[in-house]
Amino acid sequence: MAVPEDKERERVYKVVLLGNSPVGKTSFVERYVNNRFSGTNRATIAVDRTVKVLQRNGDTIKLELWDITGRDRVAQFSRVYYKGAAGCIIMFDLTDRRSFEDVQKWKLDFDSIVRNRGKNLPCLLLANKSDLGQRCATIDEINAMSKDNGFSNWTAISVKENKLVSRSMDPLVDILIAEDVGNDVEERSNNECDGLWLELKQFAVA
Ligand code: GDP
Ligand code: MG
Repeated sequence: MAVPEDKERERVYKVVLLGNSPVGKTSFVERYVNNRFSGTNRATIAVDRTVKVLQRNGDTIKLELWDITGRDRVAQFSRVYYKGAAGCIIMFDLTDRRSFEDVQKWKLDFDSIVRNRGKNLPCLLLANKSDLGQRCATIDEINAMSKDNGFSNWTAISVKENKLVSRSMDPLVDILIAEDVGNDVEERSNNECDGLWLELKQFAVA
């Protein structure tokens, strides 16, 4: 059957969420995808994969957001977890200095495992819990963290109060579309992706 030339394209990008617990990664996904905030501290059970659907210039964009529990889990499974990623989000908590300092480790870990033709993948730095009015790092320090570690962009957000949550994602979405990394749907078929996810889930609950 002939495919119309102006047929809408569907693009799928895997984006992994990284950062210490409990900076708000799981809450971010819940807010960004379902516009809900439950306010409870639910440890992510193993790994969750949630799809956010966006429309851009007539194309359907699917962001597969991968959220895993705990640093130990990621360390154990990072190769599997990061596989096929098109980009990442690294989050810290503005009230937790340690979570800010650890941003660099997360970034180095991600960059050491997934690259696109020798280039680092796009990565967003999110400073969460701006509603609490504390700043564990100065703007200059956050700027330096972002620049020195090759982040595409950084934004201070509040998942709780829904401040800048959607907007913070725009620069990453723009880069993903422009670079179209990891969007080789045939190479990364749904089957493979589901298999990978199941594999991770099994490992992570073990
Ligand atoms: P994760 O371990 O990084 O996935 O963190 P969670 O999403 O489980 O969130 C940890 C805790 O921080 C929970 O109690 C959330 O309700 C809380 N939290 C998440 N985002 C915000 C925010 O923007 N402001 C405030 N005040 N609390 C938040
Ligand atoms: Mg979580």
